[in-house]
Amino acid sequence: MTAEIWDVIIVGAGLSGLSAAHLLRKRDATLKILVLEGKNRVGGRTVSYEIPAASGADLWDFGGQWVTSTQTHVMELIKELGLEVYSQFNTGKKVLHVGGPTARVRTYTSSIPALSPLVLLDLTLLLWKIDTLSGTVCVHDPLKTPNAVELDSMTLHSYIEQHAWTAELKEQIGVCSRSVFGMEPSQMSFLFFLMYSAAAGGLLALLESTPGCAQEFKIKGGTQQLSKCLAERVGWKNVRLGSAVTTIWQDAEWARVTTNNDTFLCRAVIVTCPPHLAGQCASPTSVESLNEILTHAEGKYPTLSSALSNVANCASMHFHQHISSIFSGSRVWKSHWLKYILSEVRAWARGLLGFDF
Ligand SMILES: Cc1cc2nc3c(=O)[nH]c(=O)nc-3n(C[C@H](O)[C@H](O)[C@H](O)COP(=O)(O)OP(=O)(O)OC[C@H]3O[C@@H](n4cnc5c(N)ncnc54)[C@H](O)[C@@H]3O)c2cc1C
Repeated sequence: MTAEIWDVIIVGAGLSGLSAAHLLRKRDATLKILVLEGKNRVGGRTVSYEIPAASGADLWDFGGQWVTSTQTHVMELIKELGLEVYSQFNTGKKVLHVGGPTARVRTYTSSIPALSPLVLLDLTLLLWKIDTLSGTVCVHDPLKTPNAVELDSMTLHSYIEQHAWTAELKEQIGVCSRSVFGMEPSQMSFLFFLMYSAAAGGLLALLESTPGCAQEFKIKGGTQQLSKCLAERVGWKNVRLGSAVTTIWQDAEWARVTTNNDTFLCRAVIVTCPPHLAGQCASPTSVESLNEILTHAEGKYPTLSSALSNVANCASMHFHQHISSIFSGSRVWKSHWLKYILSEVRAWARGLLGFDF
C-alpha cells in the first residue's frame, strides 16, 4: 500500500492542533496539512452539549469554558472567527459548604467567601508571599527560576503547611486547588503552582471572575465552536476524525504516521495530545516512552532525556495544564487584591460595627 504524502501532520483536533493547522494555513496556503483526531469530534477538552434550560435548550460547556480580556491570543481568535463573548454572571448570593456535613453553610456576595479578620490577615500575608515568589518565576521556562529545584521539590500543600497559620485558610486553598487545578495541593509542584499563578497575573486574578480575571467571559454558544470554526477554516476534508495515531516513525527524510487503518508520510509532525497520551501512541501493543513516538531514532535525531520521558509517561492528565495567558508585572493582581481587601473590610465593618463606607 502506498502511503499518502503530506507536508505537515497534526495529531489531535483540540484547540492546539486546529490552531496550529489554521496558523500554518494562513502562513502558506499551499501547504498540505492533515489533522488526525482519535475521537469522533473536534474540540478535545472543550466540549459543548445542548441540554434543557429554562428558556428551552441551551449549549453548555463541559470542559474549558472561560476566557478573559488579558488572554489576548484567544480573544483575537474569537474575534477573527466571528464569535462573541459575554460576561460571567457573578452577582447575587453564593453558597459555600466545606468541612463535612456538620459544617456551617456560608453565603457570600463577593467573588471569594467572606473570611474572619484573622483568616483575612493570614490570607493577605500568604498572597503577599506567593506574589513575591511568583514574581521570580520564569513563566516560559520555570526551570530557569532562581531556586527552581527547591520550589519544585515541595508541593503546594507543604508550602501552605509552613506558611499559613489558620485551618480555615488551608481548607480554602484546598477548595481552590481542587476547583482550578482538579487536584489536591499535595499532588501539585509548588513551582508549577507559582508559574500558573504568575501566568494568570497573580493568584486572585486566577481565582476571580471580575474584569481581567480568569473567569471573566464565556463564549456565546460554547467553547467547542472555536474548534468547529477552525476546522471549517482548515477544511473538514483535512481533518480526519476517528483516526487515533498509533505510531510515529521518523527517519532522515520522512516521518511515517500510522493509525489503525492508514499510513501517512509527511515532512513534519506536530503532536498536540497530552504527553502521557502521546506516550501511548508509541506502539500499538505496548506503552513505550514518549522518546519513541517523538523521535524514533534512525540516525541523527536527538532523543528526550530519560528523565523527561519518565515525567511524560508517568504524568496523568491532571498534572498538565495549558497556559492560556501571560501577564506582565504585578500591578494587575495588586489592584484586585486591594479591591478584595477593601470589600472584605467593608463587609466586616457593616456586620460588626453597623456602618458602611
Ligand atoms: C473541565 C475542564 C475545565 C477547563 N476550564 C478551562 C477554562 O475555563 N479556561 C481555560 O482557558 N482552560 C480551561 N481548561 C483547559 C482547556 O480546556 C485546555 O487547556 C485546552 O482545551 C487544551 O487544548 P489542547 O488542544 O492543547 O488539548 P486537548 O483539548 O486535550 O486536545 C488533544 C486532542 O488530541 C486527541 N488525541 C489524543 N491522543 C490522540 C491520538 N493518539 N491520535 C489522535 N488524536 C489524539 C484528543 O482526543 C484531543 O481531541 C479546562 C479543562 C477542563 C478539562
